[in-house]
Amino acid sequence: MTEVRVRIAPSPSGNLHIGTARTALFNYLFAKKNNGKFVLRIEDTDADRTSQEYIDNIFDSLKALGLNWDEGPDVGGPYGPYTQSERFDIYPKYVQKLLDSGYAYECYCTPEELEAEKAEATKNKKPYVYSKKCLNLSEEEKAKLRAEGKKPAIRFNIAKAQKDFHENSILRFDDLVKGELHMDTSLLGDFVIMKSNGAPTYNFAVVIDDMLMKISHVIRGEDHISNTFKQILIFEALGAEVPRFGHLGMILAPDRSKLSKRHGATAVSEFVEKGYLTDALINFVALLGWSPSDGKEIKTVDEIAKDFRINEISSSNSIFEYDKLNWMNSHYIKMLSIDELKERLKPYLTKYNLNELTDAQYTRMVEITFEPLTLLSDITDAVPYFFGQDVEYDEKARETLESEISQDVLKTFVEQSADWEWSEEALHEKLEAFRGFYKEKGIKPKVTMWAIRAAVTGRLCGADMTAILAILGKEKVIKRINSAIKQTV
Ligand code: GLU
Repeated sequence: MTEVRVRIAPSPSGNLHIGTARTALFNYLFAKKNNGKFVLRIEDTDADRTSQEYIDNIFDSLKALGLNWDEGPDVGGPYGPYTQSERFDIYPKYVQKLLDSGYAYECYCTPEELEAEKAEATKNKKPYVYSKKCLNLSEEEKAKLRAEGKKPAIRFNIAKAQKDFHENSILRFDDLVKGELHMDTSLLGDFVIMKSNGAPTYNFAVVIDDMLMKISHVIRGEDHISNTFKQILIFEALGAEVPRFGHLGMILAPDRSKLSKRHGATAVSEFVEKGYLTDALINFVALLGWSPSDGKEIKTVDEIAKDFRINEISSSNSIFEYDKLNWMNSHYIKMLSIDELKERLKPYLTKYNLNELTDAQYTRMVEITFEPLTLLSDITDAVPYFFGQDVEYDEKARETLESEISQDVLKTFVEQSADWEWSEEALHEKLEAFRGFYKEKGIKPKVTMWAIRAAVTGRLCGADMTAILAILGKEKVIKRINSAIKQTV
């Protein structure tokens, strides 16, 4: 059996899209499953839309997701270079081959002439198909045009390829995901494979690259299906082996429209900035179109690879449920060790002076605050009261502090705590007794604690109060309580 070789071929015209990450993942899984190779190719032929920043983003995002490639621009491999712009000298030879065999022809139509053809089609409410005006130019006519300084684009002769390799105008192929797909190729115009400036077009470069890189299976989004028909004909015209194709359904937003920026993050790096873990992201995108046989949704990429079968991918579109991703992310946050969390939370704590806390205090802060986090970035708003001298009260805290009972609780707290030992363990007992003291007076323990919490943290809910008091230390706590007494009476 031929070696399984798959590829992800992003165009660096933006940061790595979450949809491309899913395509990369399914290719990666297919390679793993079949002991094959996963290739990264950068398709940067459209120089105007390409930037190094996007290329770096693609590399970094794929690596962060754990989708490491066996061959690619940075690691090399036997069929490089793996960046299309470095392959420009490879393509003309194959254009010539197609010209010589009649599967391609020179087209001297000017942009104005083509525009006129398109306008005519629009006027007649017909889909535009190139007129093939230049298909039968004689050698003399071509020589004359060349002498006028005109440079031809090269078009692919669809009808010839279709006739030579198929019975009629219908082209069929067996899609790995969608089953048999077919198209009447007489509806496809003779498309350009090389522009008049010598640049190959996507459909041509991709075939030459897939052929020379010995790609055995092309797995990509279903938006490429119409390209696939064109590409199959080019493979055939070149006498090359046609790879197997598999097209994945699209990823739609919850409102069933195309996933776009207005729905939220779309690039992997944006999700990461927002506080999503790459492990959660990759697990989540795996479930867009694929379901584990044991029904267990939380899985590492290695576990998914064992269970993955390409023919079990759903052929329909998948809905990107942000709520589910959030649930999954909070689950993954809970699976991190405290040491990992301490590191991963730091980028979201830059507005605070972490030096105010010792390492032990920071550890304890993380231990008592991570559980409710949906996103790592949620930590920013969860912990302001661990920093600085004073706190800002939210509305509920202010109301609470204004009550007589709260003021009484706070004053008594200052008095009683004067000789307390200030360790978390000791505080645990002291607070217990303190609540008991008020309970005897008919005050519910939670009311007692609200007063303290409001004064010390500026809010009514949050992390474990005993631990908060211990982390902040006696001096700061008493200062905040005194200031809550003064301010509100
Ligand atoms: N560069 C193309 C894209 O980003 C690749 C398509 C393909 O996989 O052939 O859409």
